[in-house]
Formats: sequence, structure tokens, C-alpha cells
Amino acid sequence: MDSNIFYSKSALAWLSLVLEERFGLKFFIQHSDSGLAIYIKEIAGSYILFSKPKNVFRTPQAYVPYTQWDGVSEGWISKVGKPLPAPGVSVLPKPLIVQKKDHHVIQYDILGLTYWALNRIEEIDSDKLDSHGRFPAIHSHAYNHKYLDRPVVDEWLHLLGQVIQRQWPELRCKQHQFSMLVSHDVDAPSRYGFCSFANMPRKMVGDLLRCNNYKSIFTAPLIRLNSKNKLHSADSYNTFDWIMSISEDHNLVSAFYFICGRTSNVDADYELEHSAIRELLRRIHLRGHEVGLHPSYGTFNKPELILLEAQRLRKVMNEEGIHQENLGGRMHYLRWKHPGTLQALSDAGLSYDSTLGYADLPGFRCGTCFEYPSFNPVTQKLLKIRIRPLIVMECTVISSRYMNLGYSESAMNEIIKLKTYCRQMSGCFTLLWHNSHFTTQSDRELYTDIIKG
Ligand SMILES: [Zn+2]
Repeated sequence: MDSNIFYSKSALAWLSLVLEERFGLKFFIQHSDSGLAIYIKEIAGSYILFSKPKNVFRTPQAYVPYTQWDGVSEGWISKVGKPLPAPGVSVLPKPLIVQKKDHHVIQYDILGLTYWALNRIEEIDSDKLDSHGRFPAIHSHAYNHKYLDRPVVDEWLHLLGQVIQRQWPELRCKQHQFSMLVSHDVDAPSRYGFCSFANMPRKMVGDLLRCNNYKSIFTAPLIRLNSKNKLHSADSYNTFDWIMSISEDHNLVSAFYFICGRTSNVDADYELEHSAIRELLRRIHLRGHEVGLHPSYGTFNKPELILLEAQRLRKVMNEEGIHQENLGGRMHYLRWKHPGTLQALSDAGLSYDSTLGYADLPGFRCGTCFEYPSFNPVTQKLLKIRIRPLIVMECTVISSRYMNLGYSESAMNEIIKLKTYCRQMSGCFTLLWHNSHFTTQSDRELYTDIIKG
């Protein structure tokens, strides 16, 4: 490849699609002797040049240096208001942005950063995996340089937007609106409804020890016997109506992702075809909420199983008269191997995936709080599926396995900080809260406070 060629044609097409979605403008990106330039077709001879493309942004397992940039002192607006994290370089020139006669020069590789972060280049071929085979936050560049809580791509694109307005004052960039999306992985729709009678005593003792729940001794057998056609109203995991009501009160649509296979003993104890689950699917749909796929534990590196589970969900949805424009989902346990899992989900015809957040820490795994079109950096092909980054999963913050903040003020502050950054960027705050994690009043209070916050 020519030393001045940094990206394949398809990678440039993908990058220009990302820019188009962000700014509402169609850009052409071209290689030049001195870097990469973006043009608007109708405006000849005028462009913005990125003068220092970085190989590290396209190379899995490369050493990626780091520095920060204080844009405010150079006269630029920073929405999040701190120095901007600048992966990929150890020193930046001053000033960073130079205005020339017919163009601007940006001496930081914003397009490279976008490519690197959105396409998860650092995760490709990584062997730094946790016990579930996941690439954890603690091994990420963002965590190690303390910027996992920053939507770094969005912040740099916001700067690019300012340069675009200076270069082409006659153009109007697209204005985005802050939004929030809540979703619920249905690992366990019922505490007792689907477990075997042999397993019930263990669960009941568990309830007694963990929550002092004496009631379960009397109600568990009843719930087990009366969940044949509908989940029992006294079942502590049957929180679906409550979740939907809260969402409706706040003009939100809840997405519920169902497990449609069994590849491990940490998968669900329900079958999608069970009458009570069918009734639940219909109820979710009738109330205007969303049904999606939660591929089971062992599928993240088995494309053929993801396809089978998606087909199984589609079949039951069809039988129940549930027709949705989009079918999205999230991997069980957030298990993910990049880009194989993404490719498999795309091949199975899913419209979006919302797995990409870390289990061990909340924040911006992809450096963005905007949904975006996906690209396979190994095959260099645009994919149909869209990536909807996951910003917060409830157990990441609450559970002793991870941050262990419980229901404290720090838990709330941590989550609201991230939500505020999403709002400042006019992006989308995504929250995963399992239906089975509303068993205490504290759960319900924290959840509603986050939604209102
Ligand atoms: Zn799950």
C-alpha cells in the first residue's frame, strides 16, 4: 500500500457515514501528501486537513501514547469542560488548529481516533481477558489514562463541528437532542415459575438468608404452581408492568431482551415458547415497548448459534403477531469477541446491538454516546447492524463483584455524572437494568432517581 494511503475505500466510506450522521453533511474524505482532507462536494477548493494520521489507530495491539489538549486556552469551546483526552500522541503542536487561506489544518488525527475507538481496535486479538472471556475495562487505554468516563470521540467531533462552522460558515450542522434508552436483559423473568421443584428449596433458603424474605416459604410453591399461563403477580422478578409504567410516565420505551437458547448453566431457566412467556411478549408489545434478543452465554464466538437463537425469537414473535421494525439486542454477560460477535449479529439480521459497555466499570467503551453504523475492521466491510453503546449496567455500579457502591450517594453521583456528559453532548444515555434486579425498595428508588436525574 502507498505510504500516503491510510484507509481503504470502504473505511473512508464508513468514516464519511459517521460524519454525515453527526453533522448532517455529506463529506468526501481524500488522501493527500500531507494527510487526510475532508471536502464538501459543492464547495470547491475549500477543505479541512488532518495533517498527522496515526498508524497506531489502525493497528490492533499497538502501543498507543497519550496526552491531553486544552482547547479552551486556544479559543475553542469544550462542552465537558476539562482538558480533552488525546490518545495516539505524546505531544501536540501549539496551536493545534491553524487557519490557512482556503483551509484549516487540524494537527490531531480526529478521524483516526474515531476509527480506533468506534471499531474497538485495541480489543482485536487481545489476550487480556477476564474469566468470562471478556476484554475488561481495566485493560483498556481509556481506563489506564483515566478517561473512560469521557465520550472522547464525541468531544473531538464537537471540536471538528466548530472548525467546520469556521471553514464553511454558510453550512448548518445537524443539531441533536439528548435522549435516554432503558433496556432490560430478561435473564430470569420469574424467581420460582420455571425452576424445577428440586431446586426450589435452595432458592427459598437463599431468599431467607439474603433478604430475610420469610414470605417466600409460603408463596414460592404457590407461584410455582400458578405460573402456567401468566407470570404470578407476587413473583419478585415479575417487575415488567412496573418497569413499563415507569417508562410510560417518562416517555420512554423499554426494550426487553430474551434468552432464546441454552449453552451453559448460567443461561435462563425459561423456554421462550412457554405460555407465560408468550403472554409476557404480547403484553410488552401491546403496551408499545420492545422485544429483543439476548444471545445465550456460549454464543459470542459461535455465529451459527446466534443465528439459530435469532430465528427462534423471530418465529415466536411471528406466532404472537409481534411485528417490529427493528430487532436488536445484547449479549448475555456482555460476552464479546471483536469483531466476530458483531459480524455474527449482523449476519443474523439484527438491526442494532447494545452490548458494548464494560461489565467491570461504567462509561464510554466506544468513546461515544451516539449510536453509529458499524464496520468490520478485519474484513474492511461496512455492516448493516448499528452499535448502540451501553453506558451503565446497574450491577456494575451496585454489585460487590464490580464497583460495590451499593445504593450510596456515590453510586448515584457516578451514574448521573455519565448521564450529564451524555446530555452535554446531546447524545444518548443508555441504561441496562435487569427485571430481576428490582427486588428491593432501594433498587426501585435508585432506578427512578436515575431516570428523573
Ligand atoms: Zn444476561
